[in-house]
Amino acid sequence: MSTNDSHEVTCNRCGSRYWITSQHVIMRDSDWIDCHVCGARLFSWNEARVYRAELTHRADWSSNNPD
Ligand SMILES: [Zn+2]
Repeated sequence: MSTNDSHEVTCNRCGSRYWITSQHVIMRDSDWIDCHVCGARLFSWNEARVYRAELTHRADWSSNNPD
């Protein structure tokens, strides 16, 4: 069992891609990460981890797009 994990996620709204890394922490935490480009929820968690998202591919997205 690894305490470190990383994987790629793609925003299902704008198509931006993120490299997700997580780190085990002592305290259980509940939080979420939103897409930096379009603001859509990438994912949320409720466990003793902290996640970070590094933008690896920025989609061509305009905030003026209809939702
Ligand atoms: Zn997005």
